Amino acid sequence: MTRVEGHYYDGLNPVCVSAGMDFSDQEATLTAGAVSERYAISHLRISPRIGSTGRFITLPNGGQFACADCVFLDSVPQESLLEGPVAWLEERWYIALACIVIVYSTLLAGYFFGLPAAATRIVAHIPMQAEQPLGKQALSWMDGKGWFKPTNLDFDTRIPIRNGFEGLYKDLPSKDYYRLEFRSSKVLGPNALALPGGIIVITDEMVKVAASMEEVMAVLAHEIGHVELRHTMRSVLQNSVVGAATAMVTSDAASLSVAVAGLPMLLAQTKYSREFEAAADDYAFRLLRQKGYSPAAFASLMERLAKKDKKQMGVFAYISSHPMTKERVAAARAAAKEVSTTPVR
Ligand SMILES: [Zn+2]
Repeated sequence: MTRVEGHYYDGLNPVCVSAGMDFSDQEATLTAGAVSERYAISHLRISPRIGSTGRFITLPNGGQFACADCVFLDSVPQESLLEGPVAWLEERWYIALACIVIVYSTLLAGYFFGLPAAATRIVAHIPMQAEQPLGKQALSWMDGKGWFKPTNLDFDTRIPIRNGFEGLYKDLPSKDYYRLEFRSSKVLGPNALALPGGIIVITDEMVKVAASMEEVMAVLAHEIGHVELRHTMRSVLQNSVVGAATAMVTSDAASLSVAVAGLPMLLAQTKYSREFEAAADDYAFRLLRQKGYSPAAFASLMERLAKKDKKQMGVFAYISSHPMTKERVAAARAAAKEVSTTPVR
C-alpha cells in the first residue's frame, strides 16, 4: 500500500481540506476529514506530468485530489495519452526556445508588415471629412496648451504664401479639405505640421528662416505629401492598435483610456517613420517640379534648419522630427535634376 498526501476539493464548495489517498493493487481510498471513500483505480483520472508542477486526480464523485508530483503516480493509468509527447517536449529546452523565437518573430512580422498594411487599408475607408474634427481638436489643444500664439506675420507676407499654397494643392485629390494656419511658436520654433483632415500649420519662425517663397512652398509641399498619403491617420491607427494591444496584454485599462482621451495630444506629437518622411519628400519633389519650383529649395532649407537646430536643439526642432537630413538633402538635389514627366496625384 502506498499513501499520497494532498488536498481534497469536493467539487461543490470552494474549500479544500487536507487529505490522503491510499493506493492498493486495484483500489484507492480517500480520507479527508469525515469523508472516507473507496474507488477502483481504473475510475480515477490522473493529470499528466507537466514539469514539476502538482498533479490532480479526478474522482468519480466529481471531486478532485491535488498533490505534489511523485514518481508513484506514473505507475497509475494516466488521463491523457498525450502525456508522453508533452513530457518529451518539456524536457527539451531548445524546443521551448525555438517556440519563443517563432512567437516573437510572428509578433514582429505582424508589427512591421501586418499593422502598416492593415492601417493603410482601414484609412482608405475613412473619408477626409471624418478626419476634420480630429484635426480641429488637435489644433485647439495645441492653441490651448500655449504651444501656438497668433501669427505676427503681416497680411502682405501671408497672402502670397496662401496663394502659392492654393496653387500647390488645387489639382490634388484632397483639394477641398486643405486649410493653412499661420501661428507663431516659441515652443516649436521653425516648424510645419500636417494635422488630420488637411489642416497644415506653418510657424512664423519657419517663414522667417526660409530664404525665398520657393523654400516656403517646399516645406508646404512636404506637408501636403503627408496629407495626401494619409500619414497622420495611418500613424495614429498603428500606434493606437499597439496601445490597445498593450492594454489588453497588461490588462491596463488606464493606459487605453489615456490613449483615447489623449488623442489630440497624440496627434500633435505624432512623429512619422522614416518611410513616411521619405514618401512625403518624394511626393513633394514631384509636386514642386510639376508646379515649376525646384526641389533644390527643399535641400537648402533643410541645411539651414539643420545648422540652426544644432545651436538650439529643442525637443520639437523640425529636424529632430525629420531625421536623416543628409539623405533627404541629397534626394532633393537629385530630384531637382530630374525632369517632371508624370503629373502628381
Ligand atoms: Zn514630415
